[in-house]
Amino acid sequence: MTYRAPLVDIGFALKYGASLGPAMEQGLFGELGIDDIDAIVAEAGRFAGEVIAPLNRIGDTYGTPFKDGVVTTAPGWKEAYRAWRLAGWNAVTAPANWGGQALPQIVNAACTEMWHAASVGFANGPMLTMAAIDALHAHGSDTLKRTYLEKLVSGEWMGTMQLTEPQAGSDVGALRTRAERAGDGTYRLKGQKIFITYGEHDFTDNIIHFVLARLPDAPPGTRGISLFLVPKFLLRTDGSPGARNDIRAHSVEHKLGIHGSPTCTMILGDNGGATGFLIGEENAGMACMFTMMNRARLAVGLQGVGLAECATQLAIGYARERRQGRTTGMKSSETAPIAAHPDVRRMLLSMRALTQAARVICYSTAMALDRSERGADAAARNIAHQQASLLTPVAKAFSTDIANEVASLGIQVHGGMGYIEETGAAQLFRDARIAPIYEGTNGIQAIDLVTRKLQLADGAAVTAHCDELRGIVRTLDASNDPAFGWSAVRLGDAVESLSRATSWLLARLDKEPDTALAGASPYLRLFGITTGGCLLAKQALAALRLGGDTAARLAVTRFFAENFAVQAGGLERTVVECAPGILAADAVFAS
Ligand SMILES: Cc1cc2nc3c(=O)[nH]c(=O)nc-3n(C[C@H](O)[C@H](O)[C@H](O)COP(=O)(O)OP(=O)(O)OC[C@H]3O[C@@H](n4cnc5c(N)ncnc54)[C@H](O)[C@@H]3O)c2cc1C
Repeated sequence: MTYRAPLVDIGFALKYGASLGPAMEQGLFGELGIDDIDAIVAEAGRFAGEVIAPLNRIGDTYGTPFKDGVVTTAPGWKEAYRAWRLAGWNAVTAPANWGGQALPQIVNAACTEMWHAASVGFANGPMLTMAAIDALHAHGSDTLKRTYLEKLVSGEWMGTMQLTEPQAGSDVGALRTRAERAGDGTYRLKGQKIFITYGEHDFTDNIIHFVLARLPDAPPGTRGISLFLVPKFLLRTDGSPGARNDIRAHSVEHKLGIHGSPTCTMILGDNGGATGFLIGEENAGMACMFTMMNRARLAVGLQGVGLAECATQLAIGYARERRQGRTTGMKSSETAPIAAHPDVRRMLLSMRALTQAARVICYSTAMALDRSERGADAAARNIAHQQASLLTPVAKAFSTDIANEVASLGIQVHGGMGYIEETGAAQLFRDARIAPIYEGTNGIQAIDLVTRKLQLADGAAVTAHCDELRGIVRTLDASNDPAFGWSAVRLGDAVESLSRATSWLLARLDKEPDTALAGASPYLRLFGITTGGCLLAKQALAALRLGGDTAARLAVTRFFAENFAVQAGGLERTVVECAPGILAADAVFAS
């Protein structure tokens, strides 16, 4: 499967959709210049397309064979990982004093999209290492940082994130893995974790597991969870890997997609207990884990964007080549490329538009994260933090939902060939299916958005978001460019639907929580299509200001507004009307 990094689209979304340009003019990133960013993104795109993408298919067919506790990754993968980390890609946003490059989150967002477009199975492990670096840097003791951070930042060692147990999936508070104080400041962990991404592999000579566990005297639920660093190999005094710790992979799952990514059941404490080192305070593990999860959630959203981009490229390439039937006015001796048929154009435009909308939502989330870290003063940083918090569940859930829709359309464009493995469309479809499930299911993202994020700053964060979208629609309306068709009207209606549905939910959260929860997923979709549509318009307006070749950007904005934003009114009605029918439908599940 070939993948060509869409550098022009990525650059445009960065600079004009997510407002990287103004941020740089304000000095948010110091001496870093736009040319530097362009060069970094271009080199990442080259690496993704030339080194990683060619390995995607072999990872799918070879899988991750498991024998005697050892996982073997597909031929070429270990070498590609080594080249990737030696090129510094693991360290893009990591702190400079631990060997990182301290580059903006938004730069890493573009890179992350491209790693995942090239191969989700490959990029999954590094994604979790980067999240682990964030958690250790934010919450770890100086000793732990000195011991582990540099090797994690360089990618010499990789990290895992271990929450899930058989009885504790979405309900993390139900986890049972125990941690007992050893009396020397360390802990002994016993339990079982399931579905652990890159829990065992042959990329690195040590794996640093980040494990949630419960102390014997911990309060119940999420208030009694602590986070521990549990290395696969304990370290000698010189810092090199020494004795094997009491944590091991018991098995590797056979699964629908991402075959190149080992998904492991982990056993801790077969021989007395795995040695663990506390990160942060006892019973405060969820706060540490949220640092990890929030970054990983945005990264999984970008995984969705990458998959969708790859599926779109594949489908457009096929639709240009494949000839079937005739278009109106063609001679009977001629055949048309399927890309000429209106219904195929509709599918291809849907794929392109949904992908670009998800991309600009994810990049905007990354920009909010950058402003929350680098803003000029505490007030600016706080507002940006709220914006990032608001957008993160949308970035994760909307992007991974559309990745599934786009990958499915990709198969449809290929017809029967899409269902056959050789084209690669089927693999993308299989690989995309996990993304709405892990890092918190998309249902849980919708609940997070509705029950926690809408209430940020007493509703001021979401109000500011709607106001920003209204401003874009006003500018669009004023542009009066006929190429936008009905865009301003459709997007204007969508913003008002979002605004009304938001007020309706906020008014019910305390007194009728189930009513609000019943409409959470359609609300997230409404949020996603409205935000995505307006941000596409923002990009298209920038294209008009800049001049040059604007036709494609205007066409995508128009298509999105007339075909997706137009669904906002129906979604609003679903949000406010669906609860009674859902909550009273016991009879459906009775037998
Ligand atoms: C390939 C793969 C890799 C993974 N990698 C990791 C990893 O590295 N580390 C790790 O810790 N975990 C990992 N996981 C686990 C993953 O995060 C969980 O599968 C996910 O959180 C969902 O948990 P569950 O499977 O137990 O589903 P459940 O929690 O049983 O959910 C089932 C369904 O019920 C819904 N649901 C559950 N609770 C609620 C609620 N309160 N309100 C509304 N709806 C609800 C869910 O949205 C879902 O649709 C991985 C899983 C897979 C398949």
